[in-house]
Parts: sequence; C-alpha cells; structure tokens
Amino acid sequence: MTVYEEALQANAAYASSFNLAGLAMPPAKQLAVVACIDARLNVEPMLGLRPGDAHVIRNAGGLVTDDALRSLIISHKLLGTETFFVIEHTDCGMLTFKDEQLQQRLKEETGQDANSIPFYAFSNVEENLLGQLKKIRRSPFLPASIDLHGFVYDVQTGKLSEVVQPEEEVMAEYANPDALVPTDWVAENMKDPKVRVIEVDVDTAAYDTGHIPGAVGWNWKNDLETQLQRDIADKEGLERLLSKAGVDKDTTIILYGDNNNWFAAYALWVLEYYGVDAKLMNGGRKKWIDEGRELSTDAPSYSPSKASAKGPKKDLRALRDQVMDHLDKVKKGRGALVDVRSPREYSGELLAPENLPQEGSQRGGHIPGAQNIVWSQAVNEDGTFKTADQLAELYQSQGVTPDKDVIAYCRIGERSAHTWFVLTHLLGYKNVRNYDGSWTEWGSLVGAPVEK
Ligand code: ZN
Repeated sequence: MTVYEEALQANAAYASSFNLAGLAMPPAKQLAVVACIDARLNVEPMLGLRPGDAHVIRNAGGLVTDDALRSLIISHKLLGTETFFVIEHTDCGMLTFKDEQLQQRLKEETGQDANSIPFYAFSNVEENLLGQLKKIRRSPFLPASIDLHGFVYDVQTGKLSEVVQPEEEVMAEYANPDALVPTDWVAENMKDPKVRVIEVDVDTAAYDTGHIPGAVGWNWKNDLETQLQRDIADKEGLERLLSKAGVDKDTTIILYGDNNNWFAAYALWVLEYYGVDAKLMNGGRKKWIDEGRELSTDAPSYSPSKASAKGPKKDLRALRDQVMDHLDKVKKGRGALVDVRSPREYSGELLAPENLPQEGSQRGGHIPGAQNIVWSQAVNEDGTFKTADQLAELYQSQGVTPDKDVIAYCRIGERSAHTWFVLTHLLGYKNVRNYDGSWTEWGSLVGAPVEK
C-alpha cells in the first residue's frame, strides 16, 4: 500500500467513529503555538491539548516569519487567543545547513536565482528562539498583554525547557540601564561603603521584620513628606535624611521596597527632584525574599555625612494648576494624562485600592482625558520590569507616546512615581511629570472637572 492509500484508509476509519462535530471555532484554551515542522514534535500531546484547544502554526524552525505573524494576528484578533507559545527543539534540521548552501544548490539544480529566498537557518536554538519572541513583541498589531513563552523541546526526553531573556540583556535595552540594578548586584555590593541600600515600603512595619543587611529604612510618611502641611519633603529635610544615611556625593544609592517598589520609586522621584541620583533594585523586596537572600533585623548606623541636594527640578513634578492647564493639551493630542490606578478607581467605583480605607477624596472618577494604564502592567510576576519592547507597546498603543507632554497620577503619587520611572528611565521619555497631589487632591478640588 502506498502512503496515499494508507492515509485514505486511516481517514475512513477516523470518520466512521468521528465525534468532534460540535467543536467551536475559537480555540478553547485561547492558545496559539508556533512550532517547528519536525516530525518528532507531537505538539498536541506534548502540551496536553485536545482537538479544539489551540491553533498550531508550523514551519521549518518554528519561526515567527511574516506568515506566522499573519496567522497569529488572525488567531488573536479574530479568534481570541491570549497565550502564545513558540516551540523550537534540540537536533533541529535548521542547524544543519546555511542559507547560502541551499540557495546555491537550488541555483545549480534549477538554474534559477534563489538568493532572494531567506531560509533563516540558524546556529543557536536559544538565541534564535529569543529573536522569535522579540518579533511577536515588536509587532504593533499584537498587544503587550499576550502571555508569551518560548520553549526548547528535547527530542530525546520529551521535556520542554522555557527560555527567557537573561535579566542583564533585558536591562541593557532600557533607555537608561543605569537606573536599575539586579538583586545579584546588590548581593555582591551591599557591603561596599560607597553603596547605600535604602528600603522604603508601603507597609512601614516591613523593614523591622527583616531587610537587606546594612540597608537603611525610610518611612514614606515621616521621611518623604513634610509633617505640618501636605507636601513632599523639603530640601533641608531630604539633606538631613541623606546625611543620617551616611550618603555623600560619591555614594551610589540603591532603593528598594515592597509592593513592587511603589515607594522606592517615589523616593527615587523625590531624590531626583532634588538633584540626587539613585537606582532601583529590580524586583524590589519581594524578589530579594523570593530568592532566599540574606535578611537582617539590625538597624545599621552610619556616621553622618555632608549631603547636599540641589534644585528642585520643577519639570519632574506637576502641581494642580499645571494639571488644569494640561487638560487643553490632552484634548488637542499634544499631551497625555496617565491614570495608573486600578480600573475600579479610574471608573469612580472606588476611592482607594480595594484593601485600603475608602477615603481621601470627596469624589470618585478620573481627570478628563486620562488613559487608564494600571502601573502593574509594567511589571512581571516576579516584580521585575517588563522588557523595553513590551513597555513601549503598552504605553504607545494607548496614545502615551514619547513626543507628548505626559503627566502621571494615582491616588497619592507613589504608584504614579512608579510609572514616571518607567516612562522616564526605562523608555527615555523626555517630558514626564508626576502629579503627586493625585486623586486625593483632584477628587476634592471644588470645581475641578471629573470624568467617570
Ligand atoms: Zn526543527
């Protein structure tokens, strides 16, 4: 029997007991997979998929070619897939030749010029795979919200190994890679007298339960705000704080904290406002703890230094009247407002995050024209920031582009400092201000326009 005859016979048997007639067109698991054509890759069973569960797009190598992108766009936009896998594998045929060899052979055998056909042969599977993921991330037609993963399938064991871009490579792609350090770096340098690690938490009791050895604890309420009137710390207050931490002009300041560095980012913004450079520890307190790194309950003391602040750099901060003036710019498309709170705060249903007391402003809603881009969309599950490509896509797809004058706000200005950090340091936007008065001010201002 020929292969053809065998196949037809098998199909007759298949159809005689066919029971999949009722399947819906959209994949039940909302999953799309790009995989190599290699005959040893049995994609559905390897992922526990049943008919109707996923789109499987196959080509030589499992590459995100223009045509694979075409399928992925249709899959996502028209059929609702939200998770994408790219699967390459060990012992791939694509590792065994070079494009020029195949092009040359085609020319010899057919007399036709095949130089314009790219075959995309490659020599390193992991590297190639990361390149394919990047092509999906960079497509303007696929959103950053797609849950994207790349795997190498081992044809000898059947196992998938996920491949992720090394943290240092991700960080190197940010506009200002110096604004961030990995936990590894902190572990290696925390005892260096020229490095000062400072913890700033939402939960002001967290520091005392254990912190990075040698880290100073700042309380956002007492240390980063003035106590009599509502304002961020004044210059003298900040200098006292830095002096007490033993920080001088040669000290590298590393900030970290809980809740994905909310108040660490806020502290960084206040420091920068007063002309003092600092860096964030990527992933914050949670990542340090998750990695099982050393914690200490000793409060260190440093001999006071001569710290000096400058500025303030007023172009980092938006005050309420400036926000009012900004509304017209937003309307005309030259400015953007980013409301980084949760959707239920943005809509006015809540006045504060769900777990906090619902107080602080007289009215609920948002500033007219504001885009709701929740701060947490900028971070991965482990607390590290998303890649530069993902972040650019996240903000630009919602009209928050680098050419615009941007103001970010939240409820009290700390979550928006996080977004300010992303836009300024990770994406290199030149005109971003943090409105620290935020909703607690705007939502109580008599006569201020509110949208719901
Ligand atoms: Zn292959």
